[in-house]
Amino acid sequence: MVGDTICAPASAPVNSPISIIRISGPQSRETAFSIFTAKSKAQNRHATYGSIVDDDKLIDDVILIFYQGPRSFTGEDMVEIFCHGNPLIVSRIIRILLRKGVRMADPGEFSKRAFLNGRIDLTNAEAINSLINAGSDWEIEASLKQMHGSLKDAVDILKSDVIFLRADIEANIDFTDQDIEFISYGDARMKLQKVRDGVLDILRRCSTGARVSSGINVTLAGRPNVGKSSLLNLILNEERAIVSDIAGTTRDLIRESVQIAGVRINLIDTAGLGAAGDEIERIGIERSHRTIDDSSLVLVVIDGSQGVTEADLEILGKTEWKQRILILNKSDLISSKQVEEISSKWGLDFVPMSAKTGEGFSDLEQRISSFLSTNFVDYDNSFIADQRVLDLLEKASESVERADELLKHNELPEIVAFELGELCDHLTGITGEIYPDDILGSIFSRFCIGK
Ligand code: GDP
Repeated sequence: MVGDTICAPASAPVNSPISIIRISGPQSRETAFSIFTAKSKAQNRHATYGSIVDDDKLIDDVILIFYQGPRSFTGEDMVEIFCHGNPLIVSRIIRILLRKGVRMADPGEFSKRAFLNGRIDLTNAEAINSLINAGSDWEIEASLKQMHGSLKDAVDILKSDVIFLRADIEANIDFTDQDIEFISYGDARMKLQKVRDGVLDILRRCSTGARVSSGINVTLAGRPNVGKSSLLNLILNEERAIVSDIAGTTRDLIRESVQIAGVRINLIDTAGLGAAGDEIERIGIERSHRTIDDSSLVLVVIDGSQGVTEADLEILGKTEWKQRILILNKSDLISSKQVEEISSKWGLDFVPMSAKTGEGFSDLEQRISSFLSTNFVDYDNSFIADQRVLDLLEKASESVERADELLKHNELPEIVAFELGELCDHLTGITGEIYPDDILGSIFSRFCIGK
């Protein structure tokens, strides 16, 4: 138990049918019941209808649920009040609670208490946060899996392997002078190899997860007037989902985030890639090239009605080494025979489409989605991980290598056991059974109030 009692709105401050206020801590029941008319009917984990009153003044009709700890989100006594969704009502109820000695919660404080009371580990907590902020179906699914323990389970299996190995090595310590070996160093190295594979597998799945969470960069390239902006608008309209500006948008680079095949894509429309006229154009073109270098996929757009021009060939040459999809746009202006002629003349595999009519768009979508599944293999199995987790996995991996070196050089079992202890600490840090206070602060302060 952490001590004082906290409260916060758990829903957004907008006018809506219902808002939720959360209270957690030892005084939550007593305080909430002191302003609730139907307290005599309220039972643990049951919804009760009644009114919130301030002395005799009616504040709102609400549903109230009391959760007796430890069977609550935070593990403490908790109350949730479902009132009418008007921010004014919410703040009136909160004000009454504050007057009665309840404290306003800090961001993430409910989750932090859940963690400190052993209700969730850090990988669960981070998954809750990413579930709330998810911008794609993949993030939602990965967050849910992780909330249910996918990353924790994977780390726990590894950890128990390390603990067993360390115990075996430590058993050797007591018998060093008697030539009794509980485990030979050769066998220990084989077991360590399994741990190494496990750490690298989790690291790979976390790195993929981190890349997929921040969105896959896809750049539109082509000379001016081929239809890049029209294509960007078509994609944004068709996908309709989460369209958001990405920070860092500059005048000559348009970036939008959109979901394709369940994955977040950062679409970047470059300035034209034609020949530079003046200094400003030159800078724009240079930046476009850098953007292309940094992106995972390039959509090269060619104006089908003009065929492949010299300038197009130059762009095709410059993007040859990239993963790319070639789009023959403005297919509404040419016949399918002409499309075939252009493709066979240049020996290029085009997706013919019209950004104007939308014809051929589903083929493009299909191609993008198969690019995602081949290049981000197994993204279904990846984990939501932030830099903290990636750093710990890197440290764990270095620790494995050091332990292996020690075994290889037949070092004393005490020294090997110490290194395995370090390895175990790094893995434990991921789920948070060992944590420095500043780490907790930095994790939970990223949460919103009420979470
Ligand atoms: P950008 O300079 O590459 O971004 O090209 P825009 O998207 O601004 O398009 C240039 C011109 O081509 C505009 O007049 C568009 O309406 C037109 N356009 C773009 N895509 C198509 C298409 O698929 N079919 C036809 N007929 N016109 C298109």
